[in-house]
Amino acid sequence: MGMLDGQCLCGQCKLSCDEAALKAVHCQCTDCQKLSGTGHLTNVVVKKGSAIVTGPLTVFESAAGSGNINKRMFCSVCGSQMLRENSGMPDISIIHAGTFHQPGAISPGAVVWHKSAISWDYCDPSLPVYEVMPPPS
Ligand SMILES: [Zn+2]
Ligand SMILES: [Zn+2]
Repeated sequence: MGMLDGQCLCGQCKLSCDEAALKAVHCQCTDCQKLSGTGHLTNVVVKKGSAIVTGPLTVFESAAGSGNINKRMFCSVCGSQMLRENSGMPDISIIHAGTFHQPGAISPGAVVWHKSAISWDYCDPSLPVYEVMPPPS
């Protein structure tokens, strides 16, 4: 089992990544608050195509404020989100860290979109904090 393998809550959807993650961040944007139902999501960014999901998937698409299309893929049986893509970022896919079998092996490198943080949402204070999304490095 690779480090970046994972599954949904019920186990019918399996995830495997054949390449190392590009980065991981805690994101406090309002979309991630709505998607998670809490203060932030821990998003793991992987090269598009390197993450394969098998199992019954339901796909939801919605338009972001920018006009880009957000595509979100969920296990059709238990509703866990497996993968997220955005037409404005065609080279990457996003996976929520808790989806992996070994989420402790992920090292978030920053807190982003801090300007919309909820007052009680706490992230590792040793990480760099960005008010919005920093430009790609
Ligand atoms: Zn499931
Ligand atoms: Zn976000």
